Amino acid sequence: MSAKPSSATGSAAGVAAQAPEYVRRMAPYVPGKPIDELAREYGLAEESIIKLASNENPRGPSPKVRAAIAAAVADITRYPDGNGFALKSALAQRLGVAREQIVLGNGSNDVLELAAQAFLRPGDDAVYSRHAFAVYPLAVHARGATGIEVPARAYGHDLEAMREAITPRTRVVFLANPNNPTGTWLPAAAVKRFLAAVPREVLVVLDEAYDEYLDVTQRSTSASWLGEHANLIVSRTFSKAYGLAGLRIGYGLMDAAVAALLNGVRQPFNVNSVAQAAALAALADVDYVAESAALNRAGLRELGTALDAMGIDYVPSHGNFLLLRVGDAAAVYARLLRQGVIVRPVSNYGLPEHLRVTVGLAEENRRFLSALRSALGR
Ligand SMILES: *Cc1c(COP(=O)(O)O)cnc(C)c1O
Repeated sequence: MSAKPSSATGSAAGVAAQAPEYVRRMAPYVPGKPIDELAREYGLAEESIIKLASNENPRGPSPKVRAAIAAAVADITRYPDGNGFALKSALAQRLGVAREQIVLGNGSNDVLELAAQAFLRPGDDAVYSRHAFAVYPLAVHARGATGIEVPARAYGHDLEAMREAITPRTRVVFLANPNNPTGTWLPAAAVKRFLAAVPREVLVVLDEAYDEYLDVTQRSTSASWLGEHANLIVSRTFSKAYGLAGLRIGYGLMDAAVAALLNGVRQPFNVNSVAQAAALAALADVDYVAESAALNRAGLRELGTALDAMGIDYVPSHGNFLLLRVGDAAAVYARLLRQGVIVRPVSNYGLPEHLRVTVGLAEENRRFLSALRSALGR
């Protein structure tokens, strides 16, 4: 045994070089800064920090959901139901689809990934908008496919340009409605026109992570379009209005044949049992979601009024966050951090002059505004 052991890093680099080039080019998603990290770095008390960086519901899950979680934790010995029977049944009834048309995901992020995994191969194209959700390019590039980023119009999706951008190699189009991080929204008629114009063999992934925050009259009816559009996937999440971001659960609605494909490539137990129980309880607690949406609307109004008074531009938002134009966003972000306020820089979305702030509880919004005034010297 005379062969010299290669150094750990040396051998790792050797094997790492064997990964496909498109995988080696990937850079991980950059999440909002965690509270404990800011506390460590700046010597701040965790309780003094507010995080308005990841579009969570500031109220968290409802008391009924917390009780369902506690009950479900008692039975984590068993594997979860890999077919999510109870939750899919409740969703099917609520949304007027068949259980076979639902795919559950470890967050709706998982559903987006599964769509990319099932439909994209190296050399294919996928279309999405500039300033759209950062997960789309990640999901596309991880399959060796090419992303076609279509210029935005007034910070939102330019659907005509997106239709024009579809090539014979395009397999998937991603639409976020409302969009994150811009908060822009497309009315149903516009999305339906787009669906009618897209070739039927191109998959359209319609990401409705913020649908629950829309006014009742604007809520999406996309579940009822599936019969006409077998190439449509609608994704929704329990991470935002339902307050369950940490548990990771979302779902996709689609034609049963497409669902079978996604179910074929997903992990058998991709959604854990506690998340399934929590989502089932959350879905039933209709009043809590309505209250959360109302609180969000009040927060958006309050933030808007204060920003108007400060002379700061923002994009009118249909989500639970606001995109503001602050100039040197990196500097303002750092000055907010020093005051214990975490928001989201969005230069990675091609928006170096903007920050995204999540609508918080009333006192959090006020604290943010006062920190922003001080950061901008106004
Ligand atoms: C937050 C968000 C998601 C959902 O993420 P989960 O994986 O469900 O937590 C999906 N799309 C957009 C546009 C989002 O902002």
